[in-house]
Amino acid sequence: GPSRDEVLALRHQYVNPGVLTYYREPLMVVEGNMQYLWDETGKRYLDAFAGIVTVSVGHCHPHVAQAVKAQAGRLQHTTTIYLHPTIAEFAAKLASKMPANPDGLPLDRTYFTNSGSEANEIAVLMSREFTGNQDVVALRNGYHGGTTTAMGMTAHGTWKFPSNPQSGITHSVPGYCYRCPLGLQYPSCDVKCAHDIKNVIEYQTPGQIACFIGEPIQGVGGAVVPPPEFFSIVYDIVRQHGGLCIADEVQGGFGRTGKHYWSHQNWGVRPDIITMAKGIGNGAPLAAVTSTGPVASTMTNRIHFNTFGGNPVSMAAGLATMEVIDAEGIQENAAAIGDLLIGGLTELKDKHALIGDVRGLGLMLGVELVKDRKTKEPASDAAAELMERAKQRGLILGKGGLHGNTMRIKPPMCITKDDAQFLLATIDQCLSEIAN
Ligand code: PMP
Repeated sequence: GPSRDEVLALRHQYVNPGVLTYYREPLMVVEGNMQYLWDETGKRYLDAFAGIVTVSVGHCHPHVAQAVKAQAGRLQHTTTIYLHPTIAEFAAKLASKMPANPDGLPLDRTYFTNSGSEANEIAVLMSREFTGNQDVVALRNGYHGGTTTAMGMTAHGTWKFPSNPQSGITHSVPGYCYRCPLGLQYPSCDVKCAHDIKNVIEYQTPGQIACFIGEPIQGVGGAVVPPPEFFSIVYDIVRQHGGLCIADEVQGGFGRTGKHYWSHQNWGVRPDIITMAKGIGNGAPLAAVTSTGPVASTMTNRIHFNTFGGNPVSMAAGLATMEVIDAEGIQENAAAIGDLLIGGLTELKDKHALIGDVRGLGLMLGVELVKDRKTKEPASDAAAELMERAKQRGLILGKGGLHGNTMRIKPPMCITKDDAQFLLATIDQCLSEIAN
């Protein structure tokens, strides 16, 4: 194949310059196996970012790879206008993991798309059709995708194009205790952040809410874990005003937070619609929206079509991924290694003044770097430097947050104790170097 320099040159010339690369010298990866990646020189990396939280059970996991290969060799594409077994099998498997809505109706009807952005578009479309309302409320600091409505719901300045229309979409205050947008302290704050949505619905919008969408733990926003009662307060207010509640499980779903299959279950809430992508297919272009029958039926109001949605190869990947999650104790591992990492990172916080906050659940972790623990001034340069130095030592980390100062640790969920020790030791060494 072409050399790294050739790839770089071709990319510079022919790929849209907006297609982002990490690192000062972009990393080229040529092979993956479970939690590891290899570059073109044969150097091995522990992948603690999983292709942006997508390779859930491991790179080229044999069971998933075999399912994809077999299906691609038998029948790659049909569209959903013909019957195919894989879509039925996978939809049924998904339904088996779904909770019920507050009225006890199961969330058992799935619409398949190719990306999380599309899944969120469909969720909003169904909410608007179902309620007859237009208004959408999302959370500040949230990320929901790059298509028109999804970008409208996204609340990162850096991810929003000013030219993108945002009609009918408003944002309320997230539960981000480390940088409380209201300047308050939990629990004496009475979780005022969650109550803000009442004000948003009643005074900042026409008051006809179709839906609320929120990530149970904000991902791109920097593993922002809300106070435990945040979502139940928000969902109650949304429902009192006639809106549906959408849980964006694109990053937190499929066992990543450990104990629960869906990250919203950590907060004891019941959404009306669940959107998912990324880890659902261990890297296959696959996403989905699941809702109750009545909400799903709104999609029959007109003809809506998605050419690649429900693609047999993606369905095979999704089914195989869920089988691995069940068969290999993936959730238990996510919980155990997550606890180990939280413990280790918290110890590192005692040692390194650069670490302002350690947070997360399971293998959805964030380490926020600050220049000064009192002022909490974001240490964005140190975060960039930590990324570089970790890469040199064979560790791939992610980065996010409004200021790009939160390290995101979201490895394939097959990561071992030894990997976790290596990750902690590497961050420890790099932070010592950076501080000097
Ligand atoms: N929702 C969340 C929570 C996400 O993190 C992302 C992607 N970062 C999306 C939606 C959009 O998914 P996609 O990039 O597949 O369109």
